[in-house]
Amino acid sequence: MNIELQLPRLDVPKLLARVNRLYVLFLLYKGVQPYVLSRVVPLDRYRSDLEAMRRMLAARIHAPKKVSLDDVSVPSVGPNDVLVKLQAMGVCHSDLHIVNGMMVPPKYPTTLGHEGAGIVEKIGERVTNVKVGDPVALYYMSICGQCYYCMTGKENICDQLLNLGLELEGTWAEYLALPAQSAIKLPGGVPFDQAALAGCAVVTPFHAMTVGEVKPGDSVAVYGAGGVGIHGVQLASFFGASQIIAVDINQRKLEAAKQVGATDLVNAKLEDPVEAIKRLTGGRGVDAAFEFIGLRLTQEQIVRSVKKGGRAVMVGISGVKFEIDANDFLFKGAQLRTTQNHTRDHLIRVLDLISTGRINIAGSISQKYRLSEANRALEALDKQTDNPIRITLYP
Ligand SMILES: [Zn+2]
Ligand SMILES: [Zn+2]
Repeated sequence: MNIELQLPRLDVPKLLARVNRLYVLFLLYKGVQPYVLSRVVPLDRYRSDLEAMRRMLAARIHAPKKVSLDDVSVPSVGPNDVLVKLQAMGVCHSDLHIVNGMMVPPKYPTTLGHEGAGIVEKIGERVTNVKVGDPVALYYMSICGQCYYCMTGKENICDQLLNLGLELEGTWAEYLALPAQSAIKLPGGVPFDQAALAGCAVVTPFHAMTVGEVKPGDSVAVYGAGGVGIHGVQLASFFGASQIIAVDINQRKLEAAKQVGATDLVNAKLEDPVEAIKRLTGGRGVDAAFEFIGLRLTQEQIVRSVKKGGRAVMVGISGVKFEIDANDFLFKGAQLRTTQNHTRDHLIRVLDLISTGRINIAGSISQKYRLSEANRALEALDKQTDNPIRITLYP
């Protein structure tokens, strides 16, 4: 009997190359320093493999109230994107709304966080507005640049608007890839954590002040002296308001508001804020009243707090219906206005104002946590542990 031995035909050079490649990747994965390896192996050949292998930590939400620190791939960068190595991130009530299930991301898991600043690590081939190594603040929206609203200077209400940390992966990670047009080069002298806050907690009230058209000599009421409202007080002062009435139920927040420019404090636990505002303004009410909380009660109160012809401005998200006394509102010729996000123009202005020391938000950072402590930071904000003004995270 003649048995023919069938040996598999091996492409020996290819097999050796593959084993070699896997071995190199394994060594790198095990932490062998690339410069050591590069002495014996042409590492350039493995560049794309190496990039695909890079891992990072990200605080991701998997379901309401379920946030975990996950080991995930560093995102890849499209031709119009930048990869940012995050240096500081903010913890915002909007993040809590997502964690508590009031706002639902289109997919789970999603990396949380919309406030952040960092250093450009990589740019796509078509990117020209920033370069590798640039410090940047992040505009928390991805906008299309082509819809009717983008074309008419209202990118804050873009038809295709997507938010970091909601529809898009967020900032609570070591790296984030995002459209280059959302990376704003930082002017000198703005620390990363202040830049992170600027992108939401400061620029939101800045935008609100422009919507409310606060002018020198105006009287202003600010409902809610928390992480956003306190900057509302500070900016009302910066915009020239002569009287700034801060309203809150937390006396310590009111005292903090006084430090940044509130002229009168109203504790709504102790007195009716509308009556107090009338009393403090000679019975008339204020030129502009802002709602930074997101409650039906206070949304109704701002409308009643303005004088004839005054402007009531909604900023907080309540998600409910509220009532207006139609005749009272009509006969006093009042206006109700709303804010939505902000424009990059406003963010650039806010960063420049911080850079030149015209506004100082250094005192706004009350607690600092590591990214790995994201759950503790969320709990501190939720339970108001140690009266946080603004909490920041660091990788
Ligand atoms: Zn925010
Ligand atoms: Zn658009």
